Amino acid sequence: NSGLCVKDLEVEYKSGQLALGRMNFTLPEHGIYTVIGPSGSGKSTLLRAIAGLLPAYQGELLFNGKSLRDKATLVGLVPQNYGLLPWKTVQANIRMAMKIAHRSTESKAKQEEGITRWLTAMGIPELAERYPLSLSGGQQQRVAIARAFAILPTILLLDEPFSALDAITREALQQLFLDSWLANPATALFVTHDVEEAILLGQKIIIMPSSKQDSPVFVDNETLFG
Ligand code: ADP
Ligand code: ADP
Repeated sequence: NSGLCVKDLEVEYKSGQLALGRMNFTLPEHGIYTVIGPSGSGKSTLLRAIAGLLPAYQGELLFNGKSLRDKATLVGLVPQNYGLLPWKTVQANIRMAMKIAHRSTESKAKQEEGITRWLTAMGIPELAERYPLSLSGGQQQRVAIARAFAILPTILLLDEPFSALDAITREALQQLFLDSWLANPATALFVTHDVEEAILLGQKIIIMPSSKQDSPVFVDNETLFG
């Protein structure tokens, strides 16, 4: 019963569109699991359901036996388009996420320490006072990742975080992501359309089916590289 357990998850959007059909799987905690599959196979929908953004899903989502509906498990999200508030500075964006995640129970000093720690981990301590729209895409993505780790999430969701970046920036961020994950080994679901990236980062690779009738396929990275 430990880890992330997806039981009979079914999501139908209001339009009547079936986005996920009866999905079942369990993933051990503290791992990086990459998710690949054709466009429309439900990768984003799966992340949205786990993030609590789709309250109307059918089935159960459990972490270590506790329903995610109870909000007892902290979930961090790195969305595709960074999701930074343009009218707040970098540090204010991170501070707000920490306040929401911890319901302001953390001391101010602890918060500031966390902001500095994770901006430094992502190699951008000097950007704390900048506004998101004055930054490059790669810099904004670093901020979005720092923000997700700064709340010290138990589950971390990343939706194609590096797909809009050039190859060199992508490689740098893949490394920083792995380093950050080692410092806070969440149960991470990482959606990518890049098979190489899926193999590079994932301890297990989840291949979403093109038909809602089929189940996802799981490939252990060790079986690929023995
Ligand atoms: P993927 O991320 O793998 O491309 P999505 O989760 O975005 O897949 O979409 C799964 C299915 O749900 C697709 O058929 C898509 O058109 C549909 N879908 C996604 N988001 C919505 C939405 N907000 N409203 C209605 N249908 C949606
Ligand atoms: P992705 O697959 O990477 O999530 P999409 O292009 O499928 O990107 O979706 C972009 C946005 O459009 C998402 O917010 C999704 O919820 C919404 N969307 C996707 N498909 C549909 C649909 N059939 N009806 C309504 N909204 C949709």
